[in-house]
Amino acid sequence: MQTVPWPVSAWKQLKQGKISCEAALSLVRNDEGILNLDLLDEEVCSRFFQYCQGQKLPPVVPLLLWQSCFYLGSPVDVPAEVLETIGDRTLTTVKVLPISAKSYRTWYHTRTADLSRITSSRLLDPITGQQSTDDIGETTELFLSKAEGQIERIKAIISSALQHQASDIHLEPTLEGLRVRYRIDGVLRNITLLPMEISRRVIVALKVMANMDIADSRRPQDGRIGEKYQVDNEADQSMDMRVSTLPCVCGEKAVVRLLPRENPFTTIDKLGFSPKALKIYKTWLEQPQGIIVFTGPTGSGKTSTLYTSLQAIATEHVNVVTVEDPVEYVLPCITQTQVNEAAGMSFAAGLRSILRQDPDIIMVGEVRDHETAETAIRAALTGHLVFTTLHTNDAAGAIPRIKDIGPDPGLISDALLGVVAQRLVRRICPHCAEPTQPNPELLAILQLDAAQIKKGNWRRGRGCPSCFQSGYSGREAVVEMLEVDDRIRELIYDGTMTQLRRHLSKSDSISFRTSAIEKVMAGVTTVEEVLRVLPRSALKLTSAGEPEPLHLVQRLG
Ligand SMILES: [Zn+2]
Repeated sequence: MQTVPWPVSAWKQLKQGKISCEAALSLVRNDEGILNLDLLDEEVCSRFFQYCQGQKLPPVVPLLLWQSCFYLGSPVDVPAEVLETIGDRTLTTVKVLPISAKSYRTWYHTRTADLSRITSSRLLDPITGQQSTDDIGETTELFLSKAEGQIERIKAIISSALQHQASDIHLEPTLEGLRVRYRIDGVLRNITLLPMEISRRVIVALKVMANMDIADSRRPQDGRIGEKYQVDNEADQSMDMRVSTLPCVCGEKAVVRLLPRENPFTTIDKLGFSPKALKIYKTWLEQPQGIIVFTGPTGSGKTSTLYTSLQAIATEHVNVVTVEDPVEYVLPCITQTQVNEAAGMSFAAGLRSILRQDPDIIMVGEVRDHETAETAIRAALTGHLVFTTLHTNDAAGAIPRIKDIGPDPGLISDALLGVVAQRLVRRICPHCAEPTQPNPELLAILQLDAAQIKKGNWRRGRGCPSCFQSGYSGREAVVEMLEVDDRIRELIYDGTMTQLRRHLSKSDSISFRTSAIEKVMAGVTTVEEVLRVLPRSALKLTSAGEPEPLHLVQRLG
């Protein structure tokens, strides 16, 4: 890369008498008004801005200075009186040629971007002053084109990922080069392809930044990068990035998880719970003792819900202690401990130590073994509010799982306040939302009746620059709740899974199906999105009288 000679600017060629003024102009600007930034001259530029220092200028790019005339490019019509003022300052005549708005933006951003630091602020369009609406791939490429060296290149990729609220960056070697993808709102998106020649060097630089062994590329490795980054014009924020590498056929693939340390959690009211679900959930949080279980796969947002809830109840009057593996975010007013098996700090050992520390509220990252389950449930029966997570598909599925690993069912039924199962659905982008008629085939899956279909406020995102053409922006929880009442307590103690599910379908409980329907009918998300995140079985309307398939007739636990 460094061996390519810098092209001689059009202005220098003109000065050397190699070309005419007209030829020089057509080198820097083609007939469509697109600039060739490589052929502009830095000296022309700095002289122009020196003369015009302190003057408010319209968007202009100095193209050439020839025979006492400044040739400027501008994407807007520059009024004659402004041209006159510029002429007075520069003591030259001034001619303006139209250039494309995009060329102007690229020129402006490449001049002003500071690649030595990571920034999460979105680029501003210098012409309108609004947030830049350019394509993500284009902005990333713009930064990359200016990067000198691999470290700047990586910082450019991270900046662009932060600006687009990505949670992960994937760098994958392919036969064509290094593919860069961002995960935004849970979905991976192609951003750019770095050329083959630098593909390996970028991965090596990333490994250096993450303190990994660069000599070893045959073993998966993991590491961390701690960096400061800039948020708008405020003080720097620190950020953790977890980097992992995996040897693959074309080289080494790297994934960077971005974990901004600024508090990313909202309030309970903004998680996406329906008013009814929220009301029930808040009564659980007000209890002095009992256990609340969160279930869902990785990436279902259960950790966010948990942290948001802990923050809501962590006041000066209570002692909140957690044992986690690993601690993902450091929360204020909460004592967080981390599992360290090598040092003998398991979930069970951590929980036992916490109980000697006079806790009021305890969060156990995950219940995986009998000892942890038993200790957690006993704690929940002796004056502590306990939060934990399990890996089950739905809320009802948590019951046999706890019974499998936990203590006596009588203790479980007494301790359990409720179960929240959740997934995340993308919200329709507010900037490009429009009314739509939903696809009848998809509606059939939800088994809605004609009246409901008529009543729905069906919307979809058309796709706009602000949501990067995806039609979605941001995510929220869609939840299923199992509220433990007397009947459910009986069923936990002495019932079958079939009886429990039948009871839930008869009662007016909050299921994935009802929550999802509420969201699509309110125009928060689309049927397609609901189908993407929820299994079809969760959306089926089970009639209460219908016999369950035989394999589901099992004892609870
Ligand atoms: Zn949009």
